[in-house]
Amino acid sequence: MSEVIPHWLTKQADLKPDQLALEYNEKESLTFQELYQASQTVARQLASLGVAKGSHVALLSQNDVHMVITIHALSYLGAVVVLLNTRLSSYELQFQIDDAKVNLLVTSDQLSYEKEKLEVAQKKTISELQQLPEKEVALQKELTLSDPFTIIYTSGTTGFPKGVVHTYGNHWWSAIGSALNLGLSPQDKWLAVLPLFHVSGLSILFKSVIYGMPVYLMESFEPEKVHDALMNNDITMISVVTVMLQRLLEKLDNESYPEKLRCVLLGGGPAPKPMLEQAQKKGVPVFQSYGLTETSSQIVTLSSQDALRKIGSAGKPLVPAQLQIDTPSSQGVGEIYVKGPMVTKGYFNNPDADKKAFQAGWLKTGDLGYLDEEGFLYVVDRRHDLIISGGENIYPSEIESVITELTNVQEVGVIDKPDDKWGEIPVAFIVKEDQNALDEEAVQTYVRGRLASYKVPKEVYFVEELPRNASNKLMRYKLKEWL
Ligand code: ATP
Repeated sequence: MSEVIPHWLTKQADLKPDQLALEYNEKESLTFQELYQASQTVARQLASLGVAKGSHVALLSQNDVHMVITIHALSYLGAVVVLLNTRLSSYELQFQIDDAKVNLLVTSDQLSYEKEKLEVAQKKTISELQQLPEKEVALQKELTLSDPFTIIYTSGTTGFPKGVVHTYGNHWWSAIGSALNLGLSPQDKWLAVLPLFHVSGLSILFKSVIYGMPVYLMESFEPEKVHDALMNNDITMISVVTVMLQRLLEKLDNESYPEKLRCVLLGGGPAPKPMLEQAQKKGVPVFQSYGLTETSSQIVTLSSQDALRKIGSAGKPLVPAQLQIDTPSSQGVGEIYVKGPMVTKGYFNNPDADKKAFQAGWLKTGDLGYLDEEGFLYVVDRRHDLIISGGENIYPSEIESVITELTNVQEVGVIDKPDDKWGEIPVAFIVKEDQNALDEEAVQTYVRGRLASYKVPKEVYFVEELPRNASNKLMRYKLKEWL
């Protein structure tokens, strides 16, 4: 793919100069023309530091207007943006900075203390950047779709984080695939509250400049504020993860969202069925989706017309994408393979990871799933987390969702434990809401009433909290260390 397109922000500044591009801090905004000018200014300031085509610039920032401007500025220089997760420890950040061969680190002013701790050739805060002179350089008028643009590290639930490289073409096709599925309306306004350092948040910025659509940017997820924004700010689309949707549904008592809210795009992990049913009852238009950092955002989505009858399914692959289930079991469960122009071409400087992840043009996702008779995808679990006990396959997420039904269970993680007789047996780690309630036997009795006996956790541990990473994902390998 070496096609060239006009720079997407320059294009919108030309087509829709006065159209709102970004709303932020509740009351402030930028038009496409203003966003274009601000990004070009910052591009010239970055150029004065030597940033040029191919430079690797890491960005460590919460969602804010400067982060958006800096990302576009870097595209005007042909530089690669390494998006860092603000919740990581300095140790983890340093690993990514070194691994991605970063030349310059830009932090928001609030994170300037973090900047001081990290070792990198050059470091600047946003304020320092704004003081720099502008260097007159030729800025990119076009984008080459095969050029790399962003690097985002996977969160490392399955081992060391890997830098996923996205080209302009990956982001372009992700936005186009999403639009072909969800449709576009001139009224659209997308609320971005997911962190922009995750691809699910970042991809909203590219949809904005590709569609000419305003983004309503929020710094962090405060349920009250997001609820108010959905009620009062003409939002038509929002991307959320499960916990966010849960919190929003709690807020939605006897009211409903305005009709113009046409899509609540849910992704990032499994969605409990009771929550989806509750959303349905409350008239919230949830679109379940499946994707990975490697797929530049969702690659499979359940469209609105199928949402009701296929509850629990992640849907079908987007128009430009394909999906297949590798070597399915007798129940049809196998590893999910995906293919399409939004799928990364590989990891940064990591041929071993590339070798493991790709096969004849397909990305092996490491997730298990099956297709129903109509071809709708149901994601089952991580392949890595599968428990094989006495020859039977056990999916931890199935046991976890049953245990979650118990009152007094705040959260639960199930893993395998080596066993002489069965090979592996399931064991559960539970965080209780009330320390006095619930014991091992009660949990086992409940699961026995719902699932086959080989799925009943043979051991139950009550713990204070579960090990979660900076993306709030359960790190099952840590539970194994605990065992
Ligand atoms: P790592 O690959 O390092 O473990 P990660 O799992 O956090 O990191 P991400 O790209 O952030 O990587 O998340 C993608 C994963 O999220 C998928 O591989 C899948 O396991 C899970 N996921 C995404 N959507 C769904 C869904 N609809 N149902 C179940 N799981 C999902």
